Amino acid sequence: MKTLAFFILFLTSITCKENTATKVYLCKSEGGKKYHYKSNCRGLNNCQHKIIATTLEKAKGQGKTLCGWEK
Ligand SMILES: [Zn+2]
Repeated sequence: MKTLAFFILFLTSITCKENTATKVYLCKSEGGKKYHYKSNCRGLNNCQHKIIATTLEKAKGQGKTLCGWEK
C-alpha cells in the first residue's frame, strides 16, 4: 500500500508541474510579440524565422501576448 500512495503522489506532482509550465511556441523574429499554444497554428505559418518552444510563464515574462488566431 505504501508503494501505491507514493505512486499517486508522484503522478500528482507531474500534473502540477505541467500546469505551471504550459508549453507554448514563439516565432523567433525581430518583432515577434505573440505566443502560440499550437505549433501548427495559422499565426506560425507566416513565421519566416525559427520556431522555438518555451513555457507560458517565460513567454509572458518576455511581454508576449496570445496569438490572435487562438483567442
Ligand atoms: Zn497562434
